[in-house]
Amino acid sequence: MIIVLKAGISRKQETSVIQEIRRRGYRPHVMRGVARTVIGAIGDELTHQSLETLVMVFPQIVESVTPVQKRYKLVSREAHPADSTVTVRQQVIGGKKFHVMAGPCSVETEKQLLKTAEAVKAAGATVLRGGAFKPRTSPYEFQGLGQRGLKLLAKARKATGLAIITELLSEHHAEMVAEYTDIIQIGARNSQNFQLLIAAAKTGKPILLKRGLSVKIEEWLLAGEYVLAHENPSLMFCERGIRTFETYTRNTLDLSAIPIIKKESHCPVVIDPSQGSGRADLVKAMCKGAVAMGADALLIEVHPDPAEAWSDGTQQVSLEVFAQLMEELQPLIRAVGRE
Ligand code: PEP
Ligand code: MN
Repeated sequence: MIIVLKAGISRKQETSVIQEIRRRGYRPHVMRGVARTVIGAIGDELTHQSLETLVMVFPQIVESVTPVQKRYKLVSREAHPADSTVTVRQQVIGGKKFHVMAGPCSVETEKQLLKTAEAVKAAGATVLRGGAFKPRTSPYEFQGLGQRGLKLLAKARKATGLAIITELLSEHHAEMVAEYTDIIQIGARNSQNFQLLIAAAKTGKPILLKRGLSVKIEEWLLAGEYVLAHENPSLMFCERGIRTFETYTRNTLDLSAIPIIKKESHCPVVIDPSQGSGRADLVKAMCKGAVAMGADALLIEVHPDPAEAWSDGTQQVSLEVFAQLMEELQPLIRAVGRE
């Protein structure tokens, strides 16, 4: 921590702050400038009382208290300068190959899921998405098929060889969901549900952590820190739009999160243009932007008949549009040096 004292502080006042820093278990290093004094306090905040409140304890003396270290550690580039990768059924996410995870918002029927799985595989997707436990805003909307949905996902994996990703909504389901899925999705609404993150991390399955509706990038990185801190190294960050004043889209997809997360963290970055816009007609453009900006993968909602979808119909693209999209992405993927 860096503690900056106000101008014109006496030695006696300075000493009172130094004594308090020591009392709280930190080692103070005093730097006296011409106009003011700065104190560097060395110690571990995990085991000691925070120094942030010094501004309250000494309102006449202390100007500011600023942390020197970033609050996240294991997810940071400093901790791991090279890009980290997540391996799922022999597929390496975060490496040279660009990945597309695609499938319906919700698992509805065997026919719907298998048809989608075959089509997205044929178009080049490597992971099948599908919600079995759905975090619906209203309790009167379709809540997902639950375990029956997980069984259908496993069946689709068997039929196609695609890896699967599905959302974990509750700690109570962690073991059950992990039994079926290859990747656990933590949804936007649970982005900072720390107990759920810990339970998900403990399953050992790769985790895709969505950004919450009003979660700042630092908070999102700190949420990811929970996964790594609980000994699960396989973490991906997924931007899916944040809530703004804009009404033309369901959410505002924050593409600037891609270079920011890439700079701050070593973990792969995934973009979800479907929740990110709420509009099927915008999905192609969002995907192209994401590839150009350095995302490692996309998570796209695809449905054989979006108008008949049981959830998120307006943002799901048809099998045909998805196939076209995959074609159109190819030159961009190559242009950014990926496969
Ligand atoms: C979804 O992927 O269908 C979903 C509910 O996502 P989010 O948590 O981003 O809203
Ligand atoms: Mn959805």
